[in-house]
Amino acid sequence: MTVRSGREFLAIPGPTTIPDEVLRAMHRPALDIYSKEMIDLTDGLLRDLSMLFATTGRSYIYIANGHGAWEAVLSNVLSRGDKVLVLESGSFALGWGNAARAMGAEVEVLKGDWSRAVRASEVEAHLRADKNHAIKAVLVVQVDTASGVVNDIKAIGQAIRAAQHPSLFLVDAVASLGCMPFEMDKWGVDVALSGSQKGLMTPPGLAFVAVGEGARAVHKTSNMRAPYWDWTERDGVEHYCRYAGTPPIHLLFALRQAFDLLLAEGLLNVFRRHQLLAEAVRRAVTVWSEGKALGFNIDDACERSNVVTTVLVGDEYDPTKLQRYSSEKCGVILGIGINKLQGKAFRIAHMGHVNAPMILGTLGVVETALKALQIPHGKGGTEAAITYLSENVSS
Ligand SMILES: *Cc1c(COP(=O)(O)O)cnc(C)c1O
Repeated sequence: MTVRSGREFLAIPGPTTIPDEVLRAMHRPALDIYSKEMIDLTDGLLRDLSMLFATTGRSYIYIANGHGAWEAVLSNVLSRGDKVLVLESGSFALGWGNAARAMGAEVEVLKGDWSRAVRASEVEAHLRADKNHAIKAVLVVQVDTASGVVNDIKAIGQAIRAAQHPSLFLVDAVASLGCMPFEMDKWGVDVALSGSQKGLMTPPGLAFVAVGEGARAVHKTSNMRAPYWDWTERDGVEHYCRYAGTPPIHLLFALRQAFDLLLAEGLLNVFRRHQLLAEAVRRAVTVWSEGKALGFNIDDACERSNVVTTVLVGDEYDPTKLQRYSSEKCGVILGIGINKLQGKAFRIAHMGHVNAPMILGTLGVVETALKALQIPHGKGGTEAAITYLSENVSS
């Protein structure tokens, strides 16, 4: 017997739930790609992307996923043999660094830990020690969806400036853009990147890059440039240049609708909704942890992201069983631990198109699974989430 029939809830950190309005926006014929309507669509999206990244710099849209955005950024600002500094705080900055290495860069990793954020003081010390300024770019993620950490991008930007180091500051906001504040210009970020399928509630397939003036200057002499990614090519006069070919029209319709939803709710409200629902999840996990079998992956409460919570599971218990029970019996698809945390954790995403019933339902299902599988846990986790919301969502 199962109780899964009904609408399935995808609680993985990407792709996320696509709003019905966004799905419907794609159900229409393609446009004449040379029409004014097409050009206006592109112009509006590029403008709104720069607004979301909070930059006066220009944005670019690629037909790609986050991995494509990584290459887009690297190929435009690096030259073969350049050294980059990767700030480890989980899986994804390392992945970006691996791409840089494969493309011909030299990669140095500032060792981090999967249980904490990047420490800005360590970044500053590392850059101060680089007296010859061999490091050309610093790579970091705002939220690492594997560890569940949120990094303080503002503080890292300040650390780079405090070290008086000329390195570019490149930031991956794939998991965080549209869910929490991102201030590209204020924080001194040179290039920021994101993707469509997480906080932006759009099907996978679009990658976004925003470029500041410092990066554009370096771009001019970069020798890793390749035609599809090249910002100069994309700045060409014809609209056709914006996508280096046929635009991904239906994904653009979807993105337009997703942006309209975000703007109608108001970005500050969107961020606050994420914070409230994330804290509700954390309240539940805190109570469950009293049973000693579960715990937060991120030690410091201030460093837990508002988009995904990574929950460690003690060695005697199998998180894949919990994940399977939740999906097969109850219709909630939880994230599993990836990379270093494979077989050791599960993840609850609270990212994008999520509301109270989706999150409370998910917590209720996790609690049901914990009981059914006899995984020790403190009683009343979902109740704690309900209490938190009742006290913080004013009547
Ligand atoms: C999901 C994710 C990526 C990778 O995105 P893909 O679209 O799967 O290539 C990169 N960085 C972060 C922080 C992510 O969460």
